[in-house]
Amino acid sequence: MSKKWLNWQTTILRPVSYEGLGLHTGKLSCVTMLPASQDTGVCFERCDLSEPQIVPATVANIGGSLRATDLECNGVSVRTVEHIMAAISWSGIDNIIVRLEGEELPLGDGSAFTYVRLLEEAGLRDLSARRRSVKVECPVWTTRGDSHLIALPYEGTRVTFLFLRKGSHLEPEYSSSEYLDIEVTPEVFREEIAPARTIGFQWELETIQEQGLALGATLEQAAIVGKDGYIGMTRFPNEACRHKALDLLGDIAILGQVLGHFIGIGSGHSMNHELVRLISRDLEIKRGV
Ligand SMILES: [Zn+2]
Repeated sequence: MSKKWLNWQTTILRPVSYEGLGLHTGKLSCVTMLPASQDTGVCFERCDLSEPQIVPATVANIGGSLRATDLECNGVSVRTVEHIMAAISWSGIDNIIVRLEGEELPLGDGSAFTYVRLLEEAGLRDLSARRRSVKVECPVWTTRGDSHLIALPYEGTRVTFLFLRKGSHLEPEYSSSEYLDIEVTPEVFREEIAPARTIGFQWELETIQEQGLALGATLEQAAIVGKDGYIGMTRFPNEACRHKALDLLGDIAILGQVLGHFIGIGSGHSMNHELVRLISRDLEIKRGV
């Protein structure tokens, strides 16, 4: 971790913009990231509405979890925030306004790398307030069937993930699995996690689109998992597992900069949200809220 952003809160130096289709809505939206003052945190702003609405990235505003993380505030939602949240957090940015013309963040290249590159363009600036990191103080976990997600105290951030690649409904047994155990630093995030693209399961593509999801995705923006392995090119042999780590880091980033060891076994967004709520509850108990 670069020493530069260990102690002081940061923001970006200059605004940057990007336009593209949303993963689930398939609609064009434009995102502009702007510098923000200390203690602002990450604040989304819907400016396509008749009156602009602020949607801060906070635990209380976590909304939907259907294959993505949505934030909601006063009936206004911002959809699919997890990739930009991971990019903001691991680019070392504490305070930023994310202005959005549209409901859903653009998918970019399907990973977080589009946003990492944009934030590199934006530059980083120290602010004069101390950074407050969040520490996992005691083990917390959540379990659903054969999926598990655990957070342990750790002096750093580490992700261990087991991605269970399930067969089609005709062959429901696990055909294979992928594993990742990684100590996350900004450099590791940029090179090893951020470029991993969204996962698509070949046998689910039609059903998902019938449900009105994934309307904006192309095959280039996703690692497509088929019955016997990946279909098409992959960026990593375990790209799906790395993307699950990316989604997890993006969801945890709603808490801010978090130190802990996160162990996921077949878990996804809704379990990530549950874990984030549990960590947040522990912090509130500790603070006496
Ligand atoms: Zn994702």
